[in-house]
Amino acid sequence: KQKEASAMLTAHELAAKWYHYILLNTEQGKHALEYLRSRGLSDKWLDFFQIGYAPAMKDKLFQFLLKRELPQTLLEKAGLIVERSDGSGFVDRFRDRIIFPIHDYKGRVIAFAGRALGDLQPKYLNSPETPLFNKSRQLFNLHHARPAIRKSGHAVLFEGYMDVIKAWEAGVVNGMATMGTALTQEHALALRRLADRVVICYDGDRAGQTAAYKSLPILEKAGLQVRVAYIPDGADPDEYITARGADKFRSEVLDYAMSAVQFRLTYIRSNFNFKDKNDTVRYLKAAARIIAEISSPIEREHHVKALSDEFSYPVEAIKQEMNEFRQQFL
Ligand code: ATP
Ligand code: MN
Ligand code: MN
Ligand code: MN
Repeated sequence: KQKEASAMLTAHELAAKWYHYILLNTEQGKHALEYLRSRGLSDKWLDFFQIGYAPAMKDKLFQFLLKRELPQTLLEKAGLIVERSDGSGFVDRFRDRIIFPIHDYKGRVIAFAGRALGDLQPKYLNSPETPLFNKSRQLFNLHHARPAIRKSGHAVLFEGYMDVIKAWEAGVVNGMATMGTALTQEHALALRRLADRVVICYDGDRAGQTAAYKSLPILEKAGLQVRVAYIPDGADPDEYITARGADKFRSEVLDYAMSAVQFRLTYIRSNFNFKDKNDTVRYLKAAARIIAEISSPIEREHHVKALSDEFSYPVEAIKQEMNEFRQQFL
């Protein structure tokens, strides 16, 4: 078992080096390199993140690793090769894809994410679950971000690999992302061991905001103080940084992250039609319940007052709704 794990780590380490070499030093890697440069990644960051390219060939990596005396069964179990359905043997899992290596907290490569060039589907392909790799535990970039998170107690959670990478380039060195799967309690607890505060910075589109709304209670339950940063116009952090720059990303997005309550109040709005009187009342009720969860009376007062002002609705009524909810449920 121990031996198998260590051979799998060796296979991943060799594969990562090989993909990286192909990207930077070969003719086959040229278009991938151009693609990455067009997305604003300089060689420095390609090296730092060990980004690579899996060539559009059947089994080049497989052959390379066989020569290093890594057996086929092991490579299959490691998810690096897959058996063809027509029984014609094994081929490389990743072909014609940009490769983002996934490292464990010690910095060892344990899996890969492969991004298609252009609009081919699926856009991302990950390693399968293996003895080394568990998606519901793994956070991309944790090994890099750990020292900064430890020091400041502060982490940023992104949706995508490119967001983490571009944010890092922009000086945000406490960013991580899940592996394209929903955030789990295990992720949250792993984070809690390093941080006490987290900013969720998901994509500004509907899918990203919904994912943020779902991640929020999971992080709170782990004991983290959570805020939510919003990227305007449905963009993602990578696009925002490319368009507006690093300084604006930090000063206008991250520094302006909303409190959890503010985010919830904002998020649920799209469920209500404010031209309709009954719907407005329904929103006020839902909002009063969100505010009821705040432990500080001054903060509760503040939000009640803001709602009252916005909807020209009596403070007392909103307050009463909120207090009844507090008595019943808290
Ligand atoms: P890019 O900027 O390269 O287009 P992205 O990170 O903005 O990538 P999104 O479509 O916003 O891509 O998806 C967010 C994240 O969800 C990705 O980084 C990836 O981890 C995951 N993901 C997206 N599509 C898939 C897929 N088809 N299979 C598995 N994971 C995926
Ligand atoms: Mn998205
Ligand atoms: Mn995105
Ligand atoms: Mn993107």
